[in-house]
Amino acid sequence: MSVVRLSQYYMPTLKETPGDAEIISHQLLLRAGFMRKTASGIYSLLPLGWRVVQKIEQIVREEMDALDAQEMRLPIIQPEEMWRESGRWDAYGPELMRLKDRHERGWCLGPTHEEIISALIATDIKSYKQLPFALYQMNTKFRDEIRPRFGLLRGREFLMKDCYSFHADEADLGAYYELQAQAYGRICDRMGIDWRRVEADSGQIGGKVTAEFHAIADAGESDIVYCACDYAADIDTLPEEGDARNVCPKCGTSLQRARGIEIGQVFQVGAQYSETMGVSFADVDGAEHPPLMGCYGWGITRSLAAAIEQHNDEYGMKWPAAIAPYQVCLIGIGKDEEVATALETYAAELDQAGIEVVIDDRNERPGTKFADADLVGWPYQVVVGSRGLKNGTVEVKERMSGEKVELPLADVVAYLGEKLKG
Ligand code: ATP
Ligand code: MG
Repeated sequence: MSVVRLSQYYMPTLKETPGDAEIISHQLLLRAGFMRKTASGIYSLLPLGWRVVQKIEQIVREEMDALDAQEMRLPIIQPEEMWRESGRWDAYGPELMRLKDRHERGWCLGPTHEEIISALIATDIKSYKQLPFALYQMNTKFRDEIRPRFGLLRGREFLMKDCYSFHADEADLGAYYELQAQAYGRICDRMGIDWRRVEADSGQIGGKVTAEFHAIADAGESDIVYCACDYAADIDTLPEEGDARNVCPKCGTSLQRARGIEIGQVFQVGAQYSETMGVSFADVDGAEHPPLMGCYGWGITRSLAAAIEQHNDEYGMKWPAAIAPYQVCLIGIGKDEEVATALETYAAELDQAGIEVVIDDRNERPGTKFADADLVGWPYQVVVGSRGLKNGTVEVKERMSGEKVELPLADVVAYLGEKLKG
């Protein structure tokens, strides 16, 4: 790794809260220099924002790989014919961004990739022996949302992990779907997100089997009820009459209410796309069947914003260490030579220990450095000043808890190593 020095780092912080940012994650992402708006619902991710994206992607990747899903990459631009085949060219509506090339051929920017993946496997899948399998990608999606808002929560261009699995029968699809759902819970846990699994159509006959994963946050657009026993539902799917909205149908205790941000969804789609797009496989006896599909979408950029909605205070963001852009910020106080030397020594030692470290070497007042460190939300701030150095100590502040400890110089690296392990 290498040590980052903030004096040359592209982290343009803002003193004022931008006027059109209504919710805290949107405000903080702009103020702390994680992103900039390029156009309505379209953002440029700056180095800090991109670092967090990569951390989240890696967690998602590990969980997908653990389920033997295979990472790949599909085109963003998709031919009109494929969407006509599935029947969605007309059904999708104005959210689908349509365009023409120089030959007047129609295209769209992918809001999701069921068509293109079905068209892909249609040519390659022939036998039951090839099933089951799952493919996934991390890619840009485009949806021309009528009301892009809340920064990364509802963008027009955004990042999604989408996974598609293919199965010979219902039982196999159901089992893999459940594994995906469990992986989604682990992704939330690893990201430090307080989440609920919301069953969409609670067991309606003929209804599609699907579940949404919601981050609990006031900025959420869904109204959900939940219970300590792990039951949760979207209030709009429950009858207004009776006790459905107040009493848990699983355990009978009273339900709690909260707003939720949908950060992921798992879906047993079944044969729909295989049938419309001509995908089939031969079973043991040579009879042709459509493979059954499962779809699993995870909002990379939306979950990034959801994590901020859950972890912030009046001073800024508080990153869980697993998804922080960097783990430790070294802040030098005073211009003494010995402070500068100590910063470099610590940075090198932390780097050696595999800890991601930045040095705030900017020519700013201590107050500005502390304020920016709180704003950006590095999990640990290490304050190195000449007074402390004389006593043989430095101060370490944990951003999440606000806890400060004074440590002997020699103990700092081991202390942080212990805190950040696992
Ligand atoms: P919503 O109901 O919020 O519009 P959706 O149900 O249409 O979302 P899906 O098709 O289920 O979204 O897409 C999978 C995931 O992609 C969502 O769970 C969400 O995390 C993310 N996502 C969807 N739309 C957006 C968007 N406009 N901006 C950012 N992330 C999005
Ligand atoms: Mg959804």
